[in-house]
Amino acid sequence: MTHSSPTATTLHTLAQPADLPALDKVLHQPELKPCIQQYGLTLVTQQLRELLAHLRTQALSQQLPLAKVTADHIIEQLLAKLEQITRSELKTVINLTGTVLHTNLGRALLPDSAVQAVAQVLTQPTNLEFDLNTGKRGDRDTLVEALICDLTEAEAATVVNNNAAAVLLMLSALAPQKDVIVSRGELVEIGGSFRIPDIMSSAGSTLKEVGTTNRTHYADYERAIGEQTAMLMKVHCSNYAVVGFTKETALSQLVTLGQQHHIPVTMDLGSGTLVDLAQWGLPHEPTVKEILQSGVDLVTFSGDKLLGGPQAGFIVGRKILIDKIKKHPLKRALRVGKLTMAALESVLALYRSPEYLPERLTTLSLLTREQSDIAQQAKQLQPSLQQAVGQDFEVSCEPMYSQIGSGAMPVESLPSFGLVIRYLGQAKASRHIMQLERKLRTQPLPIIGRIHKDALYLDCRCLSEQHAHTLNTRWSTIQL
Ligand SMILES: *Cc1c(COP(=O)(O)O)cnc(C)c1O
Repeated sequence: MTHSSPTATTLHTLAQPADLPALDKVLHQPELKPCIQQYGLTLVTQQLRELLAHLRTQALSQQLPLAKVTADHIIEQLLAKLEQITRSELKTVINLTGTVLHTNLGRALLPDSAVQAVAQVLTQPTNLEFDLNTGKRGDRDTLVEALICDLTEAEAATVVNNNAAAVLLMLSALAPQKDVIVSRGELVEIGGSFRIPDIMSSAGSTLKEVGTTNRTHYADYERAIGEQTAMLMKVHCSNYAVVGFTKETALSQLVTLGQQHHIPVTMDLGSGTLVDLAQWGLPHEPTVKEILQSGVDLVTFSGDKLLGGPQAGFIVGRKILIDKIKKHPLKRALRVGKLTMAALESVLALYRSPEYLPERLTTLSLLTREQSDIAQQAKQLQPSLQQAVGQDFEVSCEPMYSQIGSGAMPVESLPSFGLVIRYLGQAKASRHIMQLERKLRTQPLPIIGRIHKDALYLDCRCLSEQHAHTLNTRWSTIQL
């Protein structure tokens, strides 16, 4: 059909603007009643007006078949539109990437105890900033400060929106218009979205880069100290294998140097953990307590990385410095809300009983999941997935390695299991695998895997029982 010169017969079957029903007439159709009850007359009218205007344009350019302007047809389109625009944009997805703390997929999953705590404060008033003993205004930090100090042996603590905010606030409060000395090696190792130089300039501090290797650190730091120096800062680099961290000479020497010159020594620990993960066979990450014991004045770390809580950032350490930080105006701008506080308190409380952490703290139960358990799940899924993808692909169950994620030890340390899909055809394997990956990712319940060497890897470590069941029944309904 050519639109520029319609023939007599197509003209006959095409709708003219006059064929479109009036807005009021459609609105009064009885089928629309439940829809108006659900969405309200305002939204339904607005969407219907847009839809009719769109159809009118199509009719004017003679692109609208007459069959498409019946009230039934228009209502059908209207309902689809309403359903689409009111659908939630923030969706649950199935994380089969093998990365437990996946920043793009929302990092730590919280335990049910935290969900209940959050639900409570969502619908009821709380003592968020109200001192129940004095009846006066309180400080929201006190809700978790004692607990975090117990767990880290810090003198004081404050909580903000995330770790980037913690570093920004710490620098703004303690080193405005002053120099902060950081090892050059520690600047280049940080991931793309968080750059120490950018945070420094935002805080109005001047970054003084020194040294290149651990051995030369001490002399370099010493030489860089001057009138303007307000802080010596270390940044935890996930790419280094820091075993027995507290004994490392560089850190204790830095502490001595800071003490000699009365300059605070701080450390951005990133994925701060509160317990030694080595007791569960995981790689050792320096704990916040270990860093503080080495004499560092302040430590900053995230709430939603290895700690396993909600998005938050901590600054813990010397009371005199924390007091100063709490008074800075940015503290107010970067503070956390009550939902975060509720989740944080309930997650931190789990650390009081460390022996139960692997079963009660979701992040740790995912990290310590038995490979045999994961393998069993993968094997159960294999036949139905093989059937769904058809003969052009081969689905096999294979051992693989998961990652902790969020900058913690990206080494092959978590033996896992999962499904690997390979294309069996002659050519263009990568294109077929990419298409398959896209199809899975764009499902109503998106399934996120990872492509490696022209194969699609679906690591089952983070797959819940419930989602495994859903997948087993759903593969067949997915048009793969
Ligand atoms: C993750 C990380 C940050 C940023 O933490 P957010 O909580 O994402 O703001 C900063 N520094 C280091 C070393 C990190 O690993």
